[in-house]
Amino acid sequence: MIKINRDQFVFSMDKDNPPVAKAQSGDRVIFDLMDCFSDTVTSEADTISEIDFNKINPATGPLYIEEADVGDVLKVTIEKIQLDDYGAVMTAPGLNKYFSENISEEQTVICSINDDEGTFEFQGVTLPMNKHIGVIGTAPAGEGVTTGTPRMHGGNMDNTQIKEGSVLYLPVYTPGALLAMGDMHASMGDGEVWGSGVEVGGEVTVTVEILKDSTIPTPFVETETAYYAFGAADNMEEAVTIASDHLHRFIMEEAGLDFNQAGMLMSIKANLAPCQIVNPDVSFRFGIDKDILGKAKDFKG
Ligand code: CA
Ligand code: CA
Repeated sequence: MIKINRDQFVFSMDKDNPPVAKAQSGDRVIFDLMDCFSDTVTSEADTISEIDFNKINPATGPLYIEEADVGDVLKVTIEKIQLDDYGAVMTAPGLNKYFSENISEEQTVICSINDDEGTFEFQGVTLPMNKHIGVIGTAPAGEGVTTGTPRMHGGNMDNTQIKEGSVLYLPVYTPGALLAMGDMHASMGDGEVWGSGVEVGGEVTVTVEILKDSTIPTPFVETETAYYAFGAADNMEEAVTIASDHLHRFIMEEAGLDFNQAGMLMSIKANLAPCQIVNPDVSFRFGIDKDILGKAKDFKG
C-alpha cells in the first residue's frame, strides 16, 4: 500500500507543490500525520508563546491521483484513523474571541489517548473521543492557500463529521488533485471556541477515487446517516450562505424537489452548525439525515 510519512508535508495547499506520491483512482493510501504543532508540544511547559508559528498545521502530502482532471470530484473514503498516544490542548490570550472576558494566561494540557477504548484523559478524567481530521483538501485554483485557512478546496475545515467511516467529496482544480491532510483532533466541540481541540498526530487510511461528471457541491461529507454541505469564508454571513446554497441545491437534485420544497425541508429538518469560528476564516456545515431525504422523495407538491 502507498504510505506517505509525516516528514513529507506542506504548509499551503498549492497547485505548484510537487507531489510526494502518486496513486490511481481506487487505491488505498496511508497518510501519517504530525499534529498541528508539528509534534513540538510534548509537555505542559510548552506554551503557545514558545511555538514557532511558521510550523502550524503541517499537512502530509500532497498526493497526486493519476486520473484527476480539472472539474472532477475527488472522493475520499476515510477507512481508518489511528491516533498517537497523547495530544495537547492549548489556549492563550485572544483565542476566546466570542467571550466577554479575555483569557489572561496561556495554558497547555497534555492528554493521554486510548484510541482502542475511544477515550482520552483530560485533567485526570476520562472523556469520550470524537476523532476527526481538521485539515484536508486539494490544491485551490489560483494562488496557494495556507493550511490554516478553510476555503472551498477544503483546508482547515475543522468539520467533526470528517471521521472514520465518512466519505468526503473534494473539488479538483488542478491535474492530480494534490490531496493533503493534517490537524487531527481526538476531540473538538463544534466552534472550537477556546482555540484548540485535543491536537494529535496519527495515521489515516483512505481510499481515493475520481468521479467524472459529478455535480455534488464540494466540499461535501457523507456519513452513514447524514449528508453535510460546507461553507467557508472570511466572515460568517458568507460561509453560512455558501453552506445553505450548497445543501439546498443538493436536496433539490437528490430528492427531485422544487425550490420552495427544498428550502422548507431545510427549515424544518436540516441542521446548521459551526465547524470552527475562532480563526480569521470561519467554517460551517449544513446537514440533513438520509432517512429524511429519502422520505422527501415522496412529497406531493
Ligand atoms: Ca484546525
Ligand atoms: Ca487543530
